[in-house]
Amino acid sequence: MVLLKLKTWFNGEIIEYEDAKVHISVHALHYGTGCIEGIHSYKTEKGIGIFRLKEHVERFFKSAFALGMKLDFSKDEIIKAVKDLVRLNKLEDSYIRPIAFYGQSDLEVYPKNIKVNIAIISVPSEKKEIKGIKVKTSKFSRINPEALVYGAKISGFYANSIMAMHEARQQGYDEALLLDNKGKVAEGPAQNIFIIKNNKILTPNSKSILPGVTRDSMIEIGKELGFEVIEKEIELEELKEADEAFYTGTLSEIVPIIKVDDTAIGDGRIGKVTEKLMKKFGEVVKGKVEKFSGWVDRV
Ligand code: PMP
Repeated sequence: MVLLKLKTWFNGEIIEYEDAKVHISVHALHYGTGCIEGIHSYKTEKGIGIFRLKEHVERFFKSAFALGMKLDFSKDEIIKAVKDLVRLNKLEDSYIRPIAFYGQSDLEVYPKNIKVNIAIISVPSEKKEIKGIKVKTSKFSRINPEALVYGAKISGFYANSIMAMHEARQQGYDEALLLDNKGKVAEGPAQNIFIIKNNKILTPNSKSILPGVTRDSMIEIGKELGFEVIEKEIELEELKEADEAFYTGTLSEIVPIIKVDDTAIGDGRIGKVTEKLMKKFGEVVKGKVEKFSGWVDRV
């Protein structure tokens, strides 16, 4: 497999991908005490560009702080490490995964005196075909805002996402949709959601969501294209009656939603506004839009 030829950054050293190993007593494996990031690099006309690297590293540190971790590296050192790794692996379109996690343990729940490890993995990202997806409202609600730190991307939270994904796939859907504990639309298992109604762009302001970097980018790009963008509570019915809907995430970018449960969204095809946003987003990530060129870090 091509992955085996790649390098990985592990606690400050560059090592072979296959040598990046840990012990089975790692605290994060047992208790979900890791935090992760997902970052996307792109081939651009001026070499490899990394999209909104600074914002991802900011969120990484926020997540680590939520878990009470003291990291041995500064934000600038992690930014440099990501760039070094991308350069070394010579991957143009890639997915970059920083992870910080509590390491080898005596299986106690409280991670006292446990080393925090940091690794950065980079793998090729394959361009997926663009198709509209069918989503299923999950019986599991997204994590109650009082039970999480808003904006922290913590490994253990993904058990909730994975149960919802499993449920959706078992029922023949492409993806799950999670509501928050008040029954309002929250997000996908690893994506934020947007709807288009009467040419306005709407996205949930629920505190159960992970406020995504792509979500933030989409809000800015939507405004730049002249749309009114509104963050508000969204009812499931409102989503089902929307003209268009889509998910956003770093790796998947913009994924049109064409059906929610038994209801087709709009005419059941990828909408015009979604297409327009997808096109613009594709230009922005490659540094082709002057206003947002600062979002692309050159390697
Ligand atoms: N929500 C969740 C739960 C996620 O895991 C992700 C992916 N990181 C997102 C939303 C989208 O965030 P981003 O645009 O920063 O990738």
